[in-house]
Amino acid sequence: MSSFLESTEKQIDAAAAAAAIPADVLTRLKTPDRVWEFEIPVRMDDGTERKFPAWRVQHNNALGPYKGGIRFHPDSTLDEVKALASLMTWKTSLAGLPYGGAKGAVACDPRSLSERELETVARGYSRAIAPHVGPKRDIPAPDVGTNSRIIDWMADEYGKITGRYEPAAFTGKSIDKGGSQGREIATGFGGYVVLREYLKAAIPDLVWNFQTKSGISGIKNTVAVQGFGNVGAHIARILFEKGFKITAISDSRGALYEPEGIDITKVMEAKARTGIIDRATCYALASHPAPCQTFTNEALLELPADILIPAALEDQMTEKNAGRIRARVVLEMANGPTTRGADDMLAQRGIAVIPDILANSGGVVGSYFEWLQSLEQKYWSEKEALAKIDAHLTEAFAAVREEKEKRGVTWRTACYIRALTRVAQALRAT
Ligand code: NAD
Repeated sequence: MSSFLESTEKQIDAAAAAAAIPADVLTRLKTPDRVWEFEIPVRMDDGTERKFPAWRVQHNNALGPYKGGIRFHPDSTLDEVKALASLMTWKTSLAGLPYGGAKGAVACDPRSLSERELETVARGYSRAIAPHVGPKRDIPAPDVGTNSRIIDWMADEYGKITGRYEPAAFTGKSIDKGGSQGREIATGFGGYVVLREYLKAAIPDLVWNFQTKSGISGIKNTVAVQGFGNVGAHIARILFEKGFKITAISDSRGALYEPEGIDITKVMEAKARTGIIDRATCYALASHPAPCQTFTNEALLELPADILIPAALEDQMTEKNAGRIRARVVLEMANGPTTRGADDMLAQRGIAVIPDILANSGGVVGSYFEWLQSLEQKYWSEKEALAKIDAHLTEAFAAVREEKEKRGVTWRTACYIRALTRVAQALRAT
């Protein structure tokens, strides 16, 4: 069993014990409802045929249709998809959504595929899962390595199979294909809302005007962000615009560190043009007085930033490096970035960890609002969509805070207790 899946199961055990969930219900909470494993054959541009391993795991639907993204990554495995599907069940439950949890993946490197090859993989995946998904059954979305263009291909292929285009069958679509304004930034925006609520709760003397970017006390508000994809780039930009000082960013190819703060909007412009974040683009475009330092992803995690935001992949903070993390708060925007052992070490060291199932739930809340708009054929403005996400997550955070204070547990355990209890109650009622 992978360490990610093992960590997820141990966390469920711990929360189930605290919430007194009976053993038979616990077994159901830990076992996925269904697992599909298949291969996607693709005729490559050079004439050879390759088969890409792929999966869809439907974990639990006690609260409503399965919901979860699709990852394209060369290192994806069935264990990883099982762990991510389980996290989706807890995330949708915690957010109070009428959904269960699912996840999918294709073991491929999207950056090494041509446009035609990528489209063939996307359409092949959609054909394979088509009998098992649908607007009231299982609603996929983007994740690592996938985006609105890939989801559009999948939704189009699904429509060809069912005989009509059904926008509510997928979320994370482009606006042209019935997507929601604000969905692309929803995960990053949700992370900002959760962080804002955490800072207000954790630092009672905090005087912070999030509109005028002025007056913060008790915390120096420096931020290090690992991963500069959909999630990492958007939360970095939003926090930068709110006045936080982003001192470090990274992607799979390297990291940048600038103690005086990095101009994230400029770096985003550069990355859109060149596809990478490197020292030259940061220096040239961000007009920094000195070139940023370059260093490794591992070193980024250990920088003396107040807030550390892992926004790349799982298993980044382990027992090996948890003793060297110097942040005061870890906001888990990636799924599963902290192993169970590292989580215990961070708790002992007094470092608050805002867990993935709360911190990055803005994505699935945004997806829920996209799904509602698709079902009802309504279209909201970005302002309306983000205001709804803000209100939803503010309420979810307050409920978790109450649970945490009542039980004297970590943020993660408080989240899991609430999430598991809701699903367990629904299972008992069946
Ligand atoms: P993405 O593919 O858009 O971006 C991933 C980023 O991580 C890229 O910048 C990549 O270069 C970087 N990266 C990969 N390996 C790295 C490494 N070893 N070190 C540093 N950076 C590395 O993916 P995304 O959609 O931004 O997802 C990031 C995380 O957020 C994942 O854990 C995903 O499951 C989670 N998440 C995504 C969403 C969403 O709406 N997209 C919602 C909730 C959670």
